[in-house]
Amino acid sequence: MSHVRTLQRWHADCALLGAVVEGEGLVRLALATPTLPPATTTNHYIVGFEAAVLVDPSAIDPRDQRKLLNLIEAFTQVGGRMVALFLTHHHNDHSGAAQVLRQATGLPVWAHPTTERLLRGRVAIDCMIADGQTVARNADGSSWLAVHTPGHAPGHLVLHHAASGQIVAGDMVAGVGTILIEPVDGDMAQYLQSLALLEALNPTSLAPAHGPVQREPIALLQHYQAHRRAREAKIAASLPAELGLPMDLLPTAYGDVSRLAWPLALLSMQSHLLHLQAQGVAVRDGDRWRRAA
Ligand SMILES: [Zn+2]
Repeated sequence: MSHVRTLQRWHADCALLGAVVEGEGLVRLALATPTLPPATTTNHYIVGFEAAVLVDPSAIDPRDQRKLLNLIEAFTQVGGRMVALFLTHHHNDHSGAAQVLRQATGLPVWAHPTTERLLRGRVAIDCMIADGQTVARNADGSSWLAVHTPGHAPGHLVLHHAASGQIVAGDMVAGVGTILIEPVDGDMAQYLQSLALLEALNPTSLAPAHGPVQREPIALLQHYQAHRRAREAKIAASLPAELGLPMDLLPTAYGDVSRLAWPLALLSMQSHLLHLQAQGVAVRDGDRWRRAA
């Protein structure tokens, strides 16, 4: 079968199996996961063709896992070569089916060394992936490189296809809902740096883990950075002169956000406060905060 015919058949198979062809060497299948509302699914991407990885195996329903196995089988039948299951980061809505699919397919699991450490005892990582490493290749031989983008999670990796400008973005951005930077796994300074790094790569599209592929990536990345900086400025402005609890800052710093979202806002604010502390703007005493004199 010719190269073009092969891809045509693969794309027809994708449509039959509920998957969407999003670009060169990029197929998306959204399946239900226990993720952060309003998102209800995680995108499972097949990235590459000549050498391909399945990104973020996380579907919990055995019937969805079967759909995924059918998709991988159809991919193999048209000549695609699946080489690994690839984790963008350790969170359960990205890695929850890795162990089951590793058993079912015999494929190794690839992730950043920090993700390996965080998943030890739960998911066996067979191969560590470093920043700049080639992890997949398209039918035309062009490659997808891993880029380390910590901030949402310390071992977070995206996949960059320089030839087309496509980026598989994991939880760097969201097509639906928001990206939570919480103070245990997250780091606001690193997240802002990683957003700037993605912008510098000048992508043509961002394929997030949750929601549709984003086709205006530069505007989106700039919006994300501006939004975080504006929120941080609001938090800085609401810091009291005397020590106070973060929850007391919510009405001023997050007054524009629904009260239903305040528990999550409180986590995000902790990350901003730590960032403000690092910049010498906020002072901490136990779990109480004030502005620097
Ligand atoms: Zn996550």
